Amino acid sequence: MKYISTRGNAPTLGFCDAILAGLAQDGGLYLPQEWPQISNEEIASFANKSFSEIAFAIMTRFIGDEIEHDVFKDIVKKAYSGFNHPSITPLVELEPNHFILELFHGPTLAFKDVAMQFLALVMDHILVKRNQRATIVGATSGDTGSAAIEAFRGRDNIDIFILHPKGRTSEVQRRQMTCVLEDNIHNIALKGNFDDCQTIVKGLFGNKEFKENTALSGVNSINWGRILAQITYYFKAASDLGSPYKEVDFSVPTGNFGDIFAGYAAKQMGLPIGKLNIATNENDILARTLKSGKYEASEVKPTTSPSMDIAVSSNFERLLFEALGRNSEDLNRLMDSLKQSGGFSIPQKALADIVSNFNALKASEDEVIATMGGCEKESGYLLDPHTAVGVFVARQLKNKDRVMISLSTAHPAKFPQAVKIATGVEPVLPEFLADLFEKPERFDVLENDQKIIEDYILERISVTESC
Ligand SMILES: *Cc1c(COP(=O)(O)O)cnc(C)c1O
Repeated sequence: MKYISTRGNAPTLGFCDAILAGLAQDGGLYLPQEWPQISNEEIASFANKSFSEIAFAIMTRFIGDEIEHDVFKDIVKKAYSGFNHPSITPLVELEPNHFILELFHGPTLAFKDVAMQFLALVMDHILVKRNQRATIVGATSGDTGSAAIEAFRGRDNIDIFILHPKGRTSEVQRRQMTCVLEDNIHNIALKGNFDDCQTIVKGLFGNKEFKENTALSGVNSINWGRILAQITYYFKAASDLGSPYKEVDFSVPTGNFGDIFAGYAAKQMGLPIGKLNIATNENDILARTLKSGKYEASEVKPTTSPSMDIAVSSNFERLLFEALGRNSEDLNRLMDSLKQSGGFSIPQKALADIVSNFNALKASEDEVIATMGGCEKESGYLLDPHTAVGVFVARQLKNKDRVMISLSTAHPAKFPQAVKIATGVEPVLPEFLADLFEKPERFDVLENDQKIIEDYILERISVTESC
């Protein structure tokens, strides 16, 4: 299996190199050259299989012969052995024909664990085999950083540096990062906001010499390995609920469009999905785009679902590329316009293609709070604010005779204040995290200055000596 860049101007890579590269050299995102097909018979057989068996069956199609089958099977099995539910991603019936897909049973209580646990093991395997080291840097407002740190702790050939804005993450989120004390984990509390953290990370990737000296790599949501691992639960959930004999719809709380793009990939591979419903909070660029055909960035508004507070959705580029018939020239024109004027209009034919697969709707802050409160009253089920965005949108768009699956992207105890305000109930952390507030923390507070961060990283890695 080969991978091509959406911008059409970067080398075609195999699986391992595409994963290590993250972003393509031409600024584009990697996609498989073609979508592997899963037959209806095979989808039917998934109903009796475990999560890891299904995940292996799907992901192995994308690896080619770059990792031996048995080794890859072990990697997949190990990736999901730390989840705290026997089904890994269980389904819960919320109301007739409306199911919640709980993706938060991983070690940091957010759906990002499903991909990150896998990606860390695969990256480390590739590096060990090549006798190379890598340095991962990332900026986080909370969820990505904790999932990445938990997944990469103790990995042999990788150092990871995560920048979070000092004093601006929730205490649960901060402690999930800073209470991890392995030597290869480096937490930086930056004196600035999340945008400052992102600007520094972009700057590090833009410094060619630093990038080469540190073997810099990224694991943010544009890394193909993240999307790949998220395809698995669409197949698992749909086959549990009658696929391929029954078509199902999904509702997905969306920010950077990675999670829902994995649903689109599943559909391209043959999973009978009707509509993929894009659920946005008040940062509703995608809801506006599907209505008007115009993609226009605006200011970020802080909401109770911070992991979806975005100005633009980076993975939307992958969908545009597909909808444009994989024409990189047309895509580059739109991306240039985004850079120069903050927006673009989607050509008619591409928009029609997008609308045939997706709906999009926004949930206001009031609607999110009412959805959390209502759910708790009706059934005692606690929704986190991100999941509530998806449940609200699912109910608006649901056809009563069809199965709707709402993705639950975080455990309610990860966002206790919002849940308490909406429901009056204080969600409790699962047993295995109960001592989180008693553990020692380790992090360094650094100035908002790229050079200071560069020196800090260079002093702490061993990458340069090994080659
Ligand atoms: C990251 C995240 C999202 C958004 O997912 P995307 O792939 O960026 O669309 C939604 N909910 C939670 C809890 C998240 O952490």
